[in-house]
Amino acid sequence: MTKRIFHSICAVAVLVFLTSLSISMGILYTYFTDGQMEQLKSQAKLIARGASEGGIAYLESLDDLNCRVTWVSGDGGVLYDSENSTDNLENHLQREEIQNALDYGYGESTRYSVTYMAYAVYVAQRLPDGSLIRLSMVQYTVPSLLLRVGQPICVVILVMIIVCLWLAYRLANVVVHPLNSLNLDDPLSNVGYEEIKPLLMRMDSQQRQMKANQVKLMRKQRELDTVTNNMCEGLVLMNESCTVLTMNPAAAKIMGLVRPYVGVNFLSLTHANVLEPLMQRALSGSHGEDVVELPLGQYQVDASPVRSGDKVSGVVLVMFDITEKRLAEVQRREFTANVSHELKTPLHAISGYAELLKSGMVQPEDVPGFSEKIYAEAQRMVRLVEDILKLSRLDEGARDMQREQVDLYVLASETVRMLTPAAEKVDVSISLTGESIRIVGIPQLLSGILMNLCTNAVKYNRPGGCVEVSVTDETDAVVLTVADTGIGIPAEHQQRIFERFYRVDKSHSKSVGGTGLGLSIVKHSALIHNAKVELESRENVGTTIRIRFPK
Ligand code: ADP
Repeated sequence: MTKRIFHSICAVAVLVFLTSLSISMGILYTYFTDGQMEQLKSQAKLIARGASEGGIAYLESLDDLNCRVTWVSGDGGVLYDSENSTDNLENHLQREEIQNALDYGYGESTRYSVTYMAYAVYVAQRLPDGSLIRLSMVQYTVPSLLLRVGQPICVVILVMIIVCLWLAYRLANVVVHPLNSLNLDDPLSNVGYEEIKPLLMRMDSQQRQMKANQVKLMRKQRELDTVTNNMCEGLVLMNESCTVLTMNPAAAKIMGLVRPYVGVNFLSLTHANVLEPLMQRALSGSHGEDVVELPLGQYQVDASPVRSGDKVSGVVLVMFDITEKRLAEVQRREFTANVSHELKTPLHAISGYAELLKSGMVQPEDVPGFSEKIYAEAQRMVRLVEDILKLSRLDEGARDMQREQVDLYVLASETVRMLTPAAEKVDVSISLTGESIRIVGIPQLLSGILMNLCTNAVKYNRPGGCVEVSVTDETDAVVLTVADTGIGIPAEHQQRIFERFYRVDKSHSKSVGGTGLGLSIVKHSALIHNAKVELESRENVGTTIRIRFPK
């Protein structure tokens, strides 16, 4: 802008200068030509007087004249000419200045001169004897005038140029300074030109709008970041050349990356190659989904194209963890197979014994024994079905069961009382220690825990052994402990005994009426109470199981 103003000022200055120069030259030209005529006129008078007194000798004696002197007789014949021989000159009677001088004593004219081959001024003065003295000289022209005044004009032009440039530079800076020092962060605070006030007001309103939009955008961005950063599903957004635009921390973790990578080619990342077919599908415009094995487990990955008009401008990948779902499916399948198997055995036994009874092949004295076996197998099935039903209720989260204040010690003493006859039968003593402590829990489930643990402690004990049940109040938990001096659990089985239908010794478990579901029920019931299950066991020494109910 400064440059433009500078150039404009220079152009205007040059225009004004040239116009002034032309006008001045016009005035000067008139002044000089008038002066030239006046000078010639007075010279003509003087020379006429001298010629009338001294004749040709006088004229010839004239030196350093800057004009041509011609003496013309009254009939137009040339008597003397300072620059030409009189023989070569024609009669001058018809010349305008001669005519005027003959008539009025003085005449003058300006015309083209063949002698000078330029415009010349002529002045004629009549002498008393009727002859005429004529003076002539080349008329001043604009170039000749310029030549005469050229030097001072050049100096003036030079000075004018310098002054003009300096002024233009200063003016441009002065004009532009208020614009350069505008405070654009706060447009209305500027006190500059009145003319730019509408512009500043517009800028101010636009800035306000932009700031409001920026705040809105930032809030939206924060919301989006909060959602994507906290979601467990992996989310990756990339452009059409697979450059990652957004990757949430979950996606990085799922892919085994140390941090989310942005601005890199997705396919160059570790483990991304398994997702390439899905991405190619999305890039070709169709939705794709697949289950892939990633470092963190099994994931269902959905790849969707991002469209801008008709073009695919990117891909969104969403990764869902299905490890647990798959595990649950496997467990469900295993459970179904186990249940069928567990039910099949007693059913086969019952049907075998019943068939024998039906065929009448059984001796009457053997009938009670067969009936006893059928009853025992049926009881096993009933226990199994009851345990399965309990587990399925626990899988549902026992939502239909009410929590209430329960005295764990009272519950334990009831269990011990109920089990004492059975324990005595196998020569196992059972005792309870501790104090009355109330916890918030589901009484049926707590009874189930106690019953299963105490039954196991008796079942897997040895004659003369003992079972100690205790309820203690610790700083952060109420602890239920069931310790026995039984057969113990080998170390390699300890991890798995809480799994459904897992038994260390299947035949032993069956012989003592076990279903293989007791400890699973204990584990799930404890989980519903947020309680922790601890196991300590040494083969042939005994087993201690502790349930810690947090306060
Ligand atoms: P079960 O109905 O067979 O007793 P559980 O789920 O209650 O099923 O127990 C799983 C397995 O853990 C049992 O079969 C048994 O081998 C072992 N077990 C459980 N409690 C004890 C214990 N107190 N002492 C020794 N082994 C035990």
